[in-house]
Amino acid sequence: RAKEQGKARYEIFDRAMYAEAIHKLQIENDLRQAAVGQEFHLNYQPIVSLDTGRIIGFEALLRWMHPERGLISPSQFIPIAEETGLVVPIGEWVLYTACSQMKQWQTQFSHPPAKLSVNLSLKQLREPDFLERIDRILTETEIAGESLNLELTESMLMDNVEELIFVLGQLRARNIRLSIDDFGTGYSSLSYLHRFPIDYLKVDRAFISGIGTGGKSRQIAATIISLAHQLGIKAIAEGVETPTHLQNLQALNCEEAQGYLFSKPLDLAAAESLILTNPQW
Ligand code: C2E
Ligand code: MG
Ligand code: MG
Ligand code: MG
Repeated sequence: RAKEQGKARYEIFDRAMYAEAIHKLQIENDLRQAAVGQEFHLNYQPIVSLDTGRIIGFEALLRWMHPERGLISPSQFIPIAEETGLVVPIGEWVLYTACSQMKQWQTQFSHPPAKLSVNLSLKQLREPDFLERIDRILTETEIAGESLNLELTESMLMDNVEELIFVLGQLRARNIRLSIDDFGTGYSSLSYLHRFPIDYLKVDRAFISGIGTGGKSRQIAATIISLAHQLGIKAIAEGVETPTHLQNLQALNCEEAQGYLFSKPLDLAAAESLILTNPQW
């Protein structure tokens, strides 16, 4: 009987795995079409200086408008794009589009945002011609390296440390700024964090949303912000949703923040009207 139960469980498991595999395959096929069919666009979320309360930059966030399924969140399709390698051409499109947009803002506005942040996948960074691609994009879009901030996740810092330090150093030599995204959720080794030429630690949303709820989140956020300062770099908080979050982050001397309290990720038109009015929070 136990054996039969086991078998039944395997069948259910198999069916679930089968359905998941089919789903992935469909997304993968659709992703291949998406680039061709112009189904991608970028949203822009303001990054605010906690010193001045003004927008100093935007983070470009990828959006996929699927013809049948509607809007699909990047957390649903980026992992599949990473598994299949499709994240390389998709990521290149994101970089090119973000940099051209930045150039246009610099031409169009008297007070353009100082930086545009773009999320990078490990697969992109590991492409043998990654630096050439970056150079080509900077040259073609005519923006300075210092206008660009690349966001990496902690898990990207895990293997092949020496090679990575070299590539990041090359980005630094182009004045490109580097952030570690979602800091505190991965497994970066504190023993070599100081060897990476990074400019920002981005405190993960999980620790910000816990501020004021009675747990240890504030202490963890405080520790990460202080770690950044000990390393001689800046801290950014993501997922700032309430005035309580903001007050705590200001008390902790966090330099920059983004989150729904200031603004959700915006489409191009809304981002541009924000740049024009340059509000102060
Ligand atoms: P991320 O880089 O950590 O981006 C921040 C995410 O938090 C965004 O989700 C943003 O919309 C969301 N967010 C910002 N403020 C708040 C807030 O106050 N409350 C809440 N609840 N959420 C907030 P999104 O746009 O769905 O992106 C999810 C993730 O997908 C990103 O996390 C990033 O890891 C990845 N991603 C997005 N665009 C790209 C891309 O172009 N390339 C790569 N490789 N990954 C991307
Ligand atoms: Mg990010
Ligand atoms: Mg993040
Ligand atoms: Mg995040």
